[in-house]
Amino acid sequence: MISKHIIEELSRIVGKTNILSSPAQIKDFSTDGTKLVFYPDVIVFPKSTEKVSKILALANKEKIPVIPRGAGTGMSGGALAVKGGIVLGMNKMDRILYIDKENMLCKVQPGVITEKLQKEVKKYGLFYPPYPASAHLSTIGGNVAECAGGLRAVKYGVTRDYVMGLKIVLPTGEILNTGTKTVKGVVGYDLTRLIVGSEGTLAVITEIILKLIPAPEFKKTIVLFFEDIDSSIKTVIKILHAKIIPTILEFMDELCLDCIKEDLYIPASTKSMLIIELDGKKSSVIEDMENIEKICKTESRAKIYIPEGEEEQKIWDIRNNLSPSMYKLKPNKVSEDIAVPISNIPEMVSYIKWLEKQYNIPIPVFGHAGDGNLHVNIMFDKTKKEESDKAKELVSKVLRKAVELEGTISGEHGIGITKAPYLDIEIPAHGIQLMKRIKKAFDPNNILNPGKIFCRSI
Ligand SMILES: Cc1cc2nc3c(=O)[nH]c(=O)nc-3n(C[C@H](O)[C@H](O)[C@H](O)COP(=O)(O)OP(=O)(O)OC[C@H]3O[C@@H](n4cnc5c(N)ncnc54)[C@H](O)[C@@H]3O)c2cc1C
Repeated sequence: MISKHIIEELSRIVGKTNILSSPAQIKDFSTDGTKLVFYPDVIVFPKSTEKVSKILALANKEKIPVIPRGAGTGMSGGALAVKGGIVLGMNKMDRILYIDKENMLCKVQPGVITEKLQKEVKKYGLFYPPYPASAHLSTIGGNVAECAGGLRAVKYGVTRDYVMGLKIVLPTGEILNTGTKTVKGVVGYDLTRLIVGSEGTLAVITEIILKLIPAPEFKKTIVLFFEDIDSSIKTVIKILHAKIIPTILEFMDELCLDCIKEDLYIPASTKSMLIIELDGKKSSVIEDMENIEKICKTESRAKIYIPEGEEEQKIWDIRNNLSPSMYKLKPNKVSEDIAVPISNIPEMVSYIKWLEKQYNIPIPVFGHAGDGNLHVNIMFDKTKKEESDKAKELVSKVLRKAVELEGTISGEHGIGITKAPYLDIEIPAHGIQLMKRIKKAFDPNNILNPGKIFCRSI
């Protein structure tokens, strides 16, 4: 519990209108995309790097936990106040500081909503490709802290590939610039890369320099329906082997289709679907489309649907709402985001579908199949002990299999608290020790987002 005196001090730093501490206000900041609940003591909204620095210096002196928070859409509990303390709401630092068309980069504050930045840079003929399905809600700061991946990674990579430099505040309050505005730069250790994906445990990000690329001239969506799962996944591999690199290559299994069939016409006997987006020069997009159609007709026996006009956006809206729509199946879910090398996707998906039958628990699978990232949703009812126990067992089995298939336990959601008990499936003890020493070097009093990544249980 934070004392009245500290709350007054925080109020002096950020101003009375930028601090929340009533029970109702605290409740609004007690959860995130995981739907787990932990109550902070107070929420503050700094509006400058200097204010962030003052808050951290105070918290460090008083040894109070500080939890950076963007939009609270995180899927591994990174923004949750597991030990109480101060939630640092970064969403009021939401200015695009500049867009530099000549050097194809921009500088932004962390609270900018991802999709807003994408719309702004488009006006300059530029493109910021990382596209988490939460882009309409999540912040760039949250994306950088989680190294968000999303739908376009198959062609354009993930957030880390676009972060050129950062302004950060260390847990002790010191302010530091990392990185450069140049493509090349190898001076000292790469602190920018270390902070990207550090889940708000090493530093608070207050400014971000992002690389931009020329906006593609043309894009087109294709939807493919398959009568069995195997053919759809094999088609993913066939498309990539045909040297076609789609912007997006999304996979959904039959249970996912059950969740969206009210919104989208799905031919009878469909067991799996791929949604593909191609972009680039119009002539090359059309050529790739024709080649995909050829693969579907001659090898995959898929039904093809090419949406036009508003229907095209509707497909992506349905896709982006898929995750929440799964609660139609069961009231609770554990959402895993494993990734495996693409040639191992068929084995991974077959194993999950085998587990589904063995445990009699629905496990809808969808994902960014083009880059091997699969969202495995273990659906259960937490009021039923047997189902909760099964869900826990299933998580461990799925994560172990991903690592056995030379993949990873988290492709994009991070470790936070939900995956922390499983960290040692992938990282050996001496690797975890090294990471803990890095954490200590940044944060000697363990005030910044404590209880994340290295905790053994939720
Ligand atoms: C419907 C839905 C779809 C999603 N789809 C995807 C997807 O396709 N790909 C993907 O990668 N993720 C996805 N996510 C997960 C989530 O949106 C991302 O992890 C996103 O990057 C979180 O951003 P946020 O602003 O909500 O951050 P928050 O949830 O508020 O915070 C996430 C983490 O970042 C830290 N943090 C936030 N701001 C800062 C800062 N300024 N400095 C330091 N640390 C900070 C927090 O402490 C926390 O650890 C999805 C989530 C939902 C709900």
